[in-house]
Amino acid sequence: MTQHGIQHTVKDSVITLSNDGVLDGWLKGVRRVVSPNCNQRPADNEISLLVIHNISLPPGQYGGDHIERFFTNRLDHSLDPFYKEIEGVEVSSHLLIKRTGEIVQFVSFDERAWHAGASTFKTRENCNDFSIGVELEGEDEVPYTDAQYEVLVSITRCLTKEYPAISIDRIIGHQDISPGRKTDPGKAFDWERYFDQIKAKSDISTEVV
Ligand SMILES: [Zn+2]
Repeated sequence: MTQHGIQHTVKDSVITLSNDGVLDGWLKGVRRVVSPNCNQRPADNEISLLVIHNISLPPGQYGGDHIERFFTNRLDHSLDPFYKEIEGVEVSSHLLIKRTGEIVQFVSFDERAWHAGASTFKTRENCNDFSIGVELEGEDEVPYTDAQYEVLVSITRCLTKEYPAISIDRIIGHQDISPGRKTDPGKAFDWERYFDQIKAKSDISTEVV
């Protein structure tokens, strides 16, 4: 499938995020595909958790705009047998990072996106209430791209600056808050690499900003 939309190079994405940050709950300089699948966060729910996911549509295929369509209820369900299983399902995430490193934002961080479903973090249920969801285009067993790690690190730095209650120990996988029900981002996600890069780049951020 061909890739639609504006392409950001990894370098551009990093520069954009480092310099621009968040405005009114939206990452500046990032393409928006606004999803209706969201609602208000309940009162007194400070954003304090970052949840990493994966998705590919059809499963195992990359590129194209099917994820964007799924998150905005515009997917043609005749295109793949798997799509019958997800017909009528209304979900979203705040962000998607494609294999190329391109970022799409669907929901303002101020709103509750519908990414985690039934979930518990340290005895607290309904993680959507107080979290930001980031989808990586991919699968549990397939290594993520260098571009995705680069962009995810930049986004993480940006979000932890904007929402300081997201401490490093409050960045987790969907598999950790919905065990037995969800397996993403899976074995392929290299947490050590991710956290090492966050720490390494933290020193640079004080220089840049
Ligand atoms: Zn997930």
